[in-house]
Amino acid sequence: MITKERRHTAIIGSGIVGLAHAWAAARSGDRVTVFERSDRSRGASVRNFGMFWPIGQKAEHYPLALRSGELWREFSQASGITRRPCGSACIVDRDDEAAVLEEFASIAPQLGFSCELWTRSQAEERCPGARKGVMKAALYSPTECNLDPREAMMALPPFLSEKYGVSFRWNTAVTHVEKGKIRVASGEYEAFDQIIICSGDDFQTLFPTVFAAAPLKVCKLQMLRTVPQPGGWSLGPMLSSGLTLRHYDSFAICPSLVHVKRRIARETPELDRYGIHVMASQDRDGGIVLGDSHEYGEDIEIFDKAEIDELMLRELRRLYDFPDWTLAERWHGCYAKYAEAPIFRAQPLPDVHIATGTGGCGMTMSFGLAEAFFASQF
Ligand SMILES: Cc1cc2nc3c(=O)[nH]c(=O)nc-3n(C[C@H](O)[C@H](O)[C@H](O)COP(=O)(O)OP(=O)(O)OC[C@H]3O[C@@H](n4cnc5c(N)ncnc54)[C@H](O)[C@@H]3O)c2cc1C
Repeated sequence: MITKERRHTAIIGSGIVGLAHAWAAARSGDRVTVFERSDRSRGASVRNFGMFWPIGQKAEHYPLALRSGELWREFSQASGITRRPCGSACIVDRDDEAAVLEEFASIAPQLGFSCELWTRSQAEERCPGARKGVMKAALYSPTECNLDPREAMMALPPFLSEKYGVSFRWNTAVTHVEKGKIRVASGEYEAFDQIIICSGDDFQTLFPTVFAAAPLKVCKLQMLRTVPQPGGWSLGPMLSSGLTLRHYDSFAICPSLVHVKRRIARETPELDRYGIHVMASQDRDGGIVLGDSHEYGEDIEIFDKAEIDELMLRELRRLYDFPDWTLAERWHGCYAKYAEAPIFRAQPLPDVHIATGTGGCGMTMSFGLAEAFFASQF
């Protein structure tokens, strides 16, 4: 048994899952080295909305999401990154969606969620990005925070190095892992007491047979970003939509969600085909980050579909109204999705762990999940 004080932990992958584990390992006393095949984090974690989004999590995971939020606050205070504790508003324009919000607002507080229904006039007043006159109802939740993932993922490595002595090996792909050692692409071996593989959606390089047997899927999401909004215009709460209700696990507690799903399948099957729901956050420069779609497994192509962008914009424009819709960027990101829990964990060898599959909740859950993992080790 290796003592806690002497343990040297390798983390493979510098996405949010890897950096969350690096932070938790360092806080629990480990010496930590992070290996990243790129020159910086370039995977799902830097491509996302930057939505810290507890309201979307199942009730049993909500406390862990809130703990992650405390860690985001600690990191933002130490590093000075943008963190807008703006909350979120789910804005809906259909009666069946309003019924789901009403059900959620009556059930969810008993399960620990903070949320309240807003009238149309309250929502129009408090959400500058909501289109006037179309809303049927809105659900406000105060727990969400708007981060800027590009800024946060750049700031985390120096924070971990300076405060916790974490070492980073950029441009260093790990090509092989065995008990107690790893081989990097140059062919050299390095020894570690513990190895944690946080390789995101890369199922091919390390332990491909473990991934092939695991109930994991890769999901591709298309995203858009507007130019910075004029005059310091603020989005207010981050926005989601009626389409979002069928996407996040938390709303599955609402019996009438089935009516929303049936209506969408009947009237707008194109939205189901591409897994489209619409949301908006704001980056530190004032641009509105918009999305998203969900294509899985063999449906994923390397090329982005203009049709998806047009469908997202159709739905976004119906509900939201921004001063400037000029698009500055389009991109896609891919994550690994594990449907059964907020993270997929496996231990292919003694002291070798895999951690991935955070799906659409990696920015929300990773800090709490990583902390819980290290707490369970001692
Ligand atoms: C478009 C989009 C929007 C999203 N929005 C949100 C949101 O608003 N809120 C939220 O909570 N979640 C969101 N998510 C989900 C979240 O971004 C993911 O759950 C999370 O980023 C996954 O993190 P990760 O560290 O597993 O993967 P990644 O960020 O992809 O990191 C994996 C890293 O491992 C490295 N790597 C892989 N193999 C090796 C190897 N062999 N050697 C060395 N390095 C290796 C890769 O280069 C990569 O840097 C979104 C995701 C996407 C794609």
